[in-house]
Amino acid sequence: MDQAKGKFNNIKVSIIGSGIIGKSNAFKLSDYGFNITLIDQNEIHNSSNAALGILMGKIYQKRTGRSWILRQKSSDLWPKWINILQNYNSKLRIEKPLLQLTDDLKKIKKLNTFANNYPYDDLETVEANSSILNPINKMFKGNRLQGIISHQDGRINPRVLLETLDIALKSKNIKKINNQVIKIEKNNNKIWNLKLKTGEILNSEIVILCNSLDSLNLINPEIYGIKLKPVIGQAVEIFQERENTNFLSLPKIMNINGKNLITISKEKMIIGSTDEYNFKPEEYYINELFEFLEYKPNWLDKKYISRKWFGIRSRPEGEPSPLLKSLEKGLILCSGFYKNGILLAPACSDWVLKEIKKHI
Ligand SMILES: Cc1cc2nc3c(=O)[nH]c(=O)nc-3n(C[C@H](O)[C@H](O)[C@H](O)COP(=O)(O)OP(=O)(O)OC[C@H]3O[C@@H](n4cnc5c(N)ncnc54)[C@H](O)[C@@H]3O)c2cc1C
Repeated sequence: MDQAKGKFNNIKVSIIGSGIIGKSNAFKLSDYGFNITLIDQNEIHNSSNAALGILMGKIYQKRTGRSWILRQKSSDLWPKWINILQNYNSKLRIEKPLLQLTDDLKKIKKLNTFANNYPYDDLETVEANSSILNPINKMFKGNRLQGIISHQDGRINPRVLLETLDIALKSKNIKKINNQVIKIEKNNNKIWNLKLKTGEILNSEIVILCNSLDSLNLINPEIYGIKLKPVIGQAVEIFQERENTNFLSLPKIMNINGKNLITISKEKMIIGSTDEYNFKPEEYYINELFEFLEYKPNWLDKKYISRKWFGIRSRPEGEPSPLLKSLEKGLILCSGFYKNGILLAPACSDWVLKEIKKHI
């Protein structure tokens, strides 16, 4: 690593977008001595801040292809990253395990077969008579939920993660500019000029576009054949004070019939998320967060919503998510994280580092 440091010391890298992907790239590259600048104009409202932070790595059933490779890599890297990041914030951790449950008999069978096929991945079958199901059956009365436990998957609180990365980046002297990049172009010396909204020009050898949907505004998408569409994700927190309701009796992180549930306290639970192919969140889709079971428990009702929020993600059209591409010398695209951006961040940062090495 020290050898690498010397090699990349004077190379300027500009990262546009400071969501989880931009910050993770900055964090990874900072170990190699690059001269890094991270630019973002409005990170509070990005999709990373809206995320639930669930890590679905080992629980992913399709065990071939790029998506699996990225998940596998990230599942290995996250514990290592957390170890390092805990030096900056001891509160950061991965909460485990993740329970995937369903009342669909066909899916239960498929999940069981899957768990049995991968005995070394810490996947445990939850049979109908398993004691783990007692509190779940109590709270989700009437629904015959079964499934699997993934002991290596779980959740990272995204807000804590983003804050921790900020602390780490600051201590590593990564420059952060609170501004919008409105134009990028290559000058005659083959250096990239980045024009900021306030008129300043930055230059750098390497530009990494981590600005999700807005990356399309800085490049000519037709030249590179890139299409991205917006996908809104809404999530809610419910607050329920009934005496017989105690969310803490439930496993902390569950995926039930495709919806993610996170226990926050005795009275609070987060449920997410929707997939809306639009720029504006629609109230109508919130119903999906309450209508995913055959028998709806009383506490699972829209009237108990105490907080709701959304984020806009970008989904590639005509090719799988995410888009990891070198567009031309010194210009790298790291976008289209329609889902799983939190999970995939370390693996994608690894890819970016390898790609940069090809450019210099
Ligand atoms: C409700 C919800 C729940 C989710 N749950 C999960 C989950 O459980 N697990 C998981 O892994 N993923 C989850 N996701 C997905 C995850 O949030 C995304 O995949 C991830 O946040 C994408 O990160 P990003 O850095 O690419 O984009 P963003 O976080 O959107 O960041 C892009 C940044 O670019 C900046 N920017 C844009 N244009 C410019 C410009 N011209 N100049 C400077 N800056 C610019 C923006 O201000 C923004 O801060 C969820 C998403 C939502 C909405």
